[in-house]
Amino acid sequence: MNKEIAKEMRDRGMQECTGTCRFCGQMRVVWAKDPGGYSQEDLDRIASSECDCPGAEREAKRDALISDGKEAIRLTLLDRHRGHAGEVMLAGLKALASGRLKKISVQIDSETTATMFLAKVDKDVRVFVECRTTVREWSDGNQDE
Ligand SMILES: [Zn+2]
Repeated sequence: MNKEIAKEMRDRGMQECTGTCRFCGQMRVVWAKDPGGYSQEDLDRIASSECDCPGAEREAKRDALISDGKEAIRLTLLDRHRGHAGEVMLAGLKALASGRLKKISVQIDSETTATMFLAKVDKDVRVFVECRTTVREWSDGNQDE
């Protein structure tokens, strides 16, 4: 740890604690303002989130996908009175973000289906939520094409 950073942190009233990365077991210095307010589990979680080992990186990516997905669900479903479909999506989001599910589709009514899936945009993987409406074609004889 850089001495100047350590001094600055102490000047701000932060104290040095130790947390262990849940993924690689590496001990890391974690700065906390009120160390008594943190359990060892909290410190370990912070240490894990600051670690750059593959396991921690994977979890960080998954967490980013989950918050990305929550936003997509909110925009596409929860704001449009399709809350039940949104709740189903939220329940399955973690499984989708960790790659255990490929796609979640919910049929809202006879014409509307909501689908959530992962897709690559440039080099990033993002969560998409789409609502598709199947327009029924009526053959009432009035269409002249
Ligand atoms: Zn680690």
